[in-house]
This record gives sequence, structure tokens and C-alpha cells, in this order.
Amino acid sequence: MPGSNKPEASVQGAFCFIGVCLKPRLFFLFVSQIVIFAYDVQFLTYIGMESIKEIYKIGYGPSSSHTMGPHKAAEIFKGKAPDAQWYRVTLYGSLAATGEGHLTDRTIIDALSPKRVEIVWRADIVPAFHTNGMLFEAMSGESVTSSWKVYSIGGGSLSEGEEAVSEKESVYPLEKMTEIRTFIEKEGIHFWEYVQRYEQSDIWDYLQSVWEQMQRSILEGLDNDTVLPGKIKLRSKAKQYFVRASSLKASLQSRALVSAYALAVSEQNARGGKVVTAPTCGSCGILPAVLYHSKQNHGFSDKDILKALATAGLFGNVIKCNASISGAEVGCQGEVGSACVMAAVAVNQLFGGAPQQIECSAEMAMEHNLGLTCDPVCGLVQVPCIERNAVAALRALDVSLYSLMSDGKHIVNFDSIVETMKQTGHDLPSPYKETSMGGLALCI
Ligand code: SF4
Repeated sequence: MPGSNKPEASVQGAFCFIGVCLKPRLFFLFVSQIVIFAYDVQFLTYIGMESIKEIYKIGYGPSSSHTMGPHKAAEIFKGKAPDAQWYRVTLYGSLAATGEGHLTDRTIIDALSPKRVEIVWRADIVPAFHTNGMLFEAMSGESVTSSWKVYSIGGGSLSEGEEAVSEKESVYPLEKMTEIRTFIEKEGIHFWEYVQRYEQSDIWDYLQSVWEQMQRSILEGLDNDTVLPGKIKLRSKAKQYFVRASSLKASLQSRALVSAYALAVSEQNARGGKVVTAPTCGSCGILPAVLYHSKQNHGFSDKDILKALATAGLFGNVIKCNASISGAEVGCQGEVGSACVMAAVAVNQLFGGAPQQIECSAEMAMEHNLGLTCDPVCGLVQVPCIERNAVAALRALDVSLYSLMSDGKHIVNFDSIVETMKQTGHDLPSPYKETSMGGLALCI
């Protein structure tokens, strides 16, 4: 039952018993593999295609699912139960496994201040609806006066579970790229005009604010040379890359600058700075980097860039609607892979790509990110996340150019690659889906 504790509670006792017999990591793997059965049953529930404003959210990093979503949820619950003496917040699944590195507890405590907040970490319980479950409880003494179960489903979005999700109203009538492309070709319009047709009239003002924040994040990141928060003591690199790029020959310089821009935004995110999800915080450096590069090096106007943002948002929306943009759900292919798609189509459109070529660049961008795991070191959105943004920005430029040189025909269509990404994410074991229990996370 969506919104109910019962399925988790019924298996909890058995897991506790087994847990004392196994080492913690083995225990988590055991739990993950069993709970994944329940998870598979409702995997990636249909969420409808909302406004692209849901793809581009302006807020504070370092994680859209682990910071932005929980912060928003805490603010909503504070509004629902303002008279609580104190609050208890239980974090489940991936939120509990990597929440400390992602500052999940700090952002919730901050949102519920000045009241006392107790955080309960339950990585051993993986809710069936979505791994990023939260239970908010308003307390009076030791009694619970009201509670709310909610899920942070990626990109800063929240869901109350399956029933609530199915009630959501779709903004767009078509949800598959094949249908959308057929429609726009029949109407003789561009992808961005399709977006304009179905969004509210303030969409261009909204995208303007998104673009302004993206540029601010780049400039702030380039001007910031510090050790990033967290125990790995990672030093930021954007400023250094930017300075070194100036001494390179033009052909190399432009690529080095793209890396510097992507690093700048990602490092701002790691600092807990203000960024735009595109489509998530972890992948927020890729799209701004290629757009800023296009403006600086090729002179595209802000108006052109807003249209590119509209098209990029549409492709991100198709992925979110038909698969997932949550690293905890499908691995990093859903975050950096999706951002790479958005950046590739944005650049392709700026350089005059036809709809078929734009779709081709999107398909290639995802195809070459398939299987990308989410295994951040120490649960921080830093390694491999920051560097991965720079690499994906360059890849987006490469696949965009590749498809512009072609006639845009491609064997695998975009809908198929999105479905493949979803299935690949489904097949990935839990240690590779934002739990810091496998892969790179075990390297140090
Ligand atoms: S590895 Fe990818 S999906 Fe995971 S936190 Fe980093 S950017 Fe997000």
C-alpha cells in the first residue's frame, strides 16, 4: 500500500536477525537483493509528463534527491504541523545510506528549525515505491501527533506514492519522442515551439531566470578556489583549469574551457551553493557548460539559448517520464546520462540541427552512458561526480557534432534507448545506485 509502513515493517524483524549474523556490508547487499524484489514490482511508476519547470529547479546543492527534495519536504511538513513540540524524521534506503555525505540531515534540520529534530537512519529498509523514502513525524512529548510519508524521486521532485502520482495532471499530450517528432514534423514546427505550445505563457521568463542562474554558477565557481566540504578534502579545480586554458592553442583551449565551466558549476554544487538542476544537482554542470561555451565562443544570443533550454528540457522530461533521472533508481546513467542528452540536443539545435539530427544526438548521448554506475566516494557528490560532469560536457559536444555531420538516420530510436536505460538501471545491483556500498565508493 503506498504511503504505508507495513511491507517494510513485516520484513524488518527478519533482516535484523540476519543482520547480526553478517558483516554490515554483506548484510546490506543481502537486504538490497531481497528488497529489490518488492522494488521491481512497482519499479519506475508512471508519473506523467509535467512542465519542464520540474526539470529545471533553482536551489541549493549538493543533491537534488538527497538535499533539495528533503528540504522541500521538510518545509511542507512544517506547514502541515506547525505546532509540533519537536520533529522525528526517519530516512530510508539510499537517503539513509548516503544522506550524511549529501547533507540530508543538515538540510532537514535547517528547514524545521528552530524546533528540535531527531534524525533516524534506516538504510536497512528500502521502501517498495522508491528507495528515497522519508517519514516525517510531529511529536508532542513522546507521542506522534501527525505523520507524513513521502519520497524524493529525483531532480528535487517529491511523491507521496503510487496513488498520488497517478493523480498528477500531464502538461504534454505526447510522452514518447517518436510521437513528438512525428507531430512536430507534421506541423512544421521546432521542438522548442512544441514546448511553447503546451507550457504556460511565463515559460520564457522562467527559462531566462534559469539561464541567469546557470551563468552565475559558472562565474562564482570560476572565482572560487577552496577545499570542498567533506572528509576527502578535495580541492576545487575550475579556477586552475580556466587559467591554464588561456595558454593553450585555440583548438584545445575551447575544450579546456568547457571542462572549466562544467567543473565550476559542479564545484559550486558540492559547496552547497545555488545551482539549477539540469536535470539533477549531481549533473548540474553539463548543460550550463556547453551553453556558456556556445555563447562565448560562437556568439549565440540569449534568445537562442532559451530555445535550446526548452528543447533540452523536453528531452529530459521524456526521460523522466518514461524511465528515471534518479541515480538512486537507475544509477548515474539517469543523471549524467540524461544531462549529456540535454546538452547534446541543446548544442545540436543551436547549430541548426534538424529534428532527426537532434534526436540522433540524444540517442548517442544516452547510448554511450549506458550502465554508468552511481557510487560516490564517501557519499559525497564529488568523486566521480564533478569530473564526470566535465567529461560528459565534452561528450555532448562530440555526439552533437557527429550527428550534425550525418543525415540524422539512426538504427536505435530515442525511446528505445530510454527504455534500455531503464532496464539497465533495473538490472544494476543496489551497491551501484547511490548507496556507496560498491564500486568507486570502496576505493578509499
Ligand atoms: S555518481 Fe552520478 S548519479 Fe551518483 S551522485 Fe554522482 S552525479 Fe549523481
